[in-house]
Amino acid sequence: MQLGVLTSGGDAPGMNAAVRAVVRTALERGVSVFTIHEGYQGLVDGGDDIHAATWGDVSSILERGGTVLGTARCKAFRGREGRRAAVLNMIERGIDRLVVIGGDGSLTGAHALQREWPGLVGELAAEGSIEPNVAARFPKLRVVGIVGSIDNDMAGTDVTLGADTALHRITEALDAIASTALSHRRSFVIEVMGRNCGYLALMSAVGSGADWFFVPEDPPPADTWRTDLVAHLLASRAAGRQNTVVVVAEGARDDQGHPIASAEIREVIERGLGTEVRVTVLGHVQRGGPPSAFDRNLGTLLGHAAVDALLDGEDPVEAPIIVGMRGNRIVRLPLDDCLAQNQAIGEAIDAKDYKRAMTLRGGGFRAAHGVLRTMTQSQPDVAAVPTRPLRLAVLNAGAPAPGMNAAVRAAVRLGLDRGHEVLGVENGFEGLAEGKLRRLEWMDVTGWASRGGSELGTRRSVLQGRDLYGLSRAVEEHEIDGILVVGGLSAYTAAHKFVSERDDYPALAIPIVCLPATINNNLPGSELSIGADTALNSIVGAVDKIRQSASAQQRCFVVQVMGRRCGYLATMSGLATGAERAYIHEEGVTIADMMGDLELLRRGFRAGRRLGLLIRAEGANDVYDARFMEQLFEEEGGELFDVRVAILGHLQQGGQPSPFDRISATRFAGACVDFLIEHARAKDPAAAYIGMEGGETRFHDLLNLPRMVDAACQRPKQQWWMALRHVARQLARVESGTPHGDAPLTRNSPRVTPTPISDPGEKR
Ligand code: ADP
Repeated sequence: MQLGVLTSGGDAPGMNAAVRAVVRTALERGVSVFTIHEGYQGLVDGGDDIHAATWGDVSSILERGGTVLGTARCKAFRGREGRRAAVLNMIERGIDRLVVIGGDGSLTGAHALQREWPGLVGELAAEGSIEPNVAARFPKLRVVGIVGSIDNDMAGTDVTLGADTALHRITEALDAIASTALSHRRSFVIEVMGRNCGYLALMSAVGSGADWFFVPEDPPPADTWRTDLVAHLLASRAAGRQNTVVVVAEGARDDQGHPIASAEIREVIERGLGTEVRVTVLGHVQRGGPPSAFDRNLGTLLGHAAVDALLDGEDPVEAPIIVGMRGNRIVRLPLDDCLAQNQAIGEAIDAKDYKRAMTLRGGGFRAAHGVLRTMTQSQPDVAAVPTRPLRLAVLNAGAPAPGMNAAVRAAVRLGLDRGHEVLGVENGFEGLAEGKLRRLEWMDVTGWASRGGSELGTRRSVLQGRDLYGLSRAVEEHEIDGILVVGGLSAYTAAHKFVSERDDYPALAIPIVCLPATINNNLPGSELSIGADTALNSIVGAVDKIRQSASAQQRCFVVQVMGRRCGYLATMSGLATGAERAYIHEEGVTIADMMGDLELLRRGFRAGRRLGLLIRAEGANDVYDARFMEQLFEEEGGELFDVRVAILGHLQQGGQPSPFDRISATRFAGACVDFLIEHARAKDPAAAYIGMEGGETRFHDLLNLPRMVDAACQRPKQQWWMALRHVARQLARVESGTPHGDAPLTRNSPRVTPTPISDPGEKR
């Protein structure tokens, strides 16, 4: 059994993680694997472009952008002749299983190759290029695709490899531009990639708080968009906004199909506002740079799943499939259907049937679009004012988590837009008990989407009897109709206490809803909490630097990350950095474990490796702490390597929120505000916490909280990500007696049942 892997078409960050996972998973299963360089061109040319890969060949590539295999556009492969040459090259090496990592063009090519394979093999045998008995051994080709595309433009999968990193690059640029725009009171038009797909424009506008956006799926009226835009921006300035940022997808057009170019938007704004406008076309910056933590892990999981699918011998893959992600889980999807749906979206846009295009994009895209429409208004939609507005309070509690401000901003604007008043509470429940709250207006939260920390202020509070008295008085005095609590487990616990005491304090009988915000990701009812993605990226960035610092010595690092007794950050950062080992409390740590790992390190360093990387969750084990591990490894490692501890500390809690955290904060906040409005003034006051599970937003009864949490360990009883640990273990582990984490050696099987794609899922 021989397997090949190639990257083709436009490069995308995360491709290297996928290649590494394909190579190592195959080797782990005892299957030879060939890396094919320069995409299909390498397959057509053969020779040195196709070579057998070793475990060490894919070391230290996780953190690199682009693709180490190279990629090319290959004209020859579009023709049958070219594909026949490819088949011959593959058969000569015994390859009849292929992982193709690329965009929809590349996957269309893979599909053609698979379809024609039997015929091409027959032709090669007939012309004598291969022996008939060889031809008989290769009756068909198995193909699994991984969609590498920064545009997130493939139907069926919630997210494509590279899209998250591209959003990072765009968001960084938008943050930088927003601050200079503010200083100069200037207007900026930012053009982002996306010919047919407005995903990057839409999501970056949600995450950055842009004033306006243009995407192909939602074309404005050809005859009025210019005057509408100017009127909107003037209103926005009149309401107090001092800078203007408009995001436009490169494929934006009006409802008559005429392109809306960034240059034209500039002219329109310059004429309408009389201000200077700068255009920035972000271009290839969006493709470049190190992959985000999410893309590293996505690439790794997809590469691993692709090999699983190819080696599933009992139930061969008859038609090509792709491996993708739906609802935070890896799935197999029929390539045919995905390509057909993509084509349908393109056709709908070309036929100006934008409603259909929007429907085909899926629920998550539509929801984000709806929220963004509201958020970019310059003021609330006055037509929606109800007869008796509610007074909704919002507070932050527990440790600060990046994304809290984005949640508050969204809650304020969406609450106001629905005609209600929103009160911002200072310093959590304590502040509420002291009556420290103020009305927040539309412009008060401008710029909050990108700010780290907590603008409202937060406290880690444990509610006592007298606090409850204070809270109850505050609720009465300020006529609060509902409370949104943004925070971690201590916030949830305080909210639970609040609800449990309703019998004694009747004023507390108002709806309350908790929004998950903690870097630890230790909350029940949500697979991901706000802040965790940012923290993961901070850790991965820090480990990249640590790795570079060690490149000259033989050194082993013990990196300690936050999370207390929840091993999420340790596990996922271990996966994203290729650490040899992540020590977590859930698994326990024993001396025998450490001695085993030490032995592997010794062997590795003896064989010439230069770096060892061990990650530990801060609460992994109280006795075997970071210093203990340092001393143990230092002493036992002898002359082979030295050991350093890096305790990452509060850098993990700070920083500007990642695009994903901003977007989910906004989504959650919208749903929470609707929840409070729906349940306000009801007879039985509701109490819930919100979360995302399997791609769906759900509310859970807050009264059930104690049953869902392991109180001693301060984490949920069920943790979905524990299932990913075996992948990390496999890919970092030993091959023929040597440890193979990701440090450079030298300097220098379930049934294949593809998920139907008829129901487009949430876009990440
Ligand atoms: P992407 O994969 O990023 O969409 P392209 O559309 O440029 O990028 O496709 C990359 C390569 O895939 C092409 O250069 C060509 O070799 C191959 N390819 C694309 N479309 C087809 C097709 N219809 N038939 C065969 N090969 C194709």
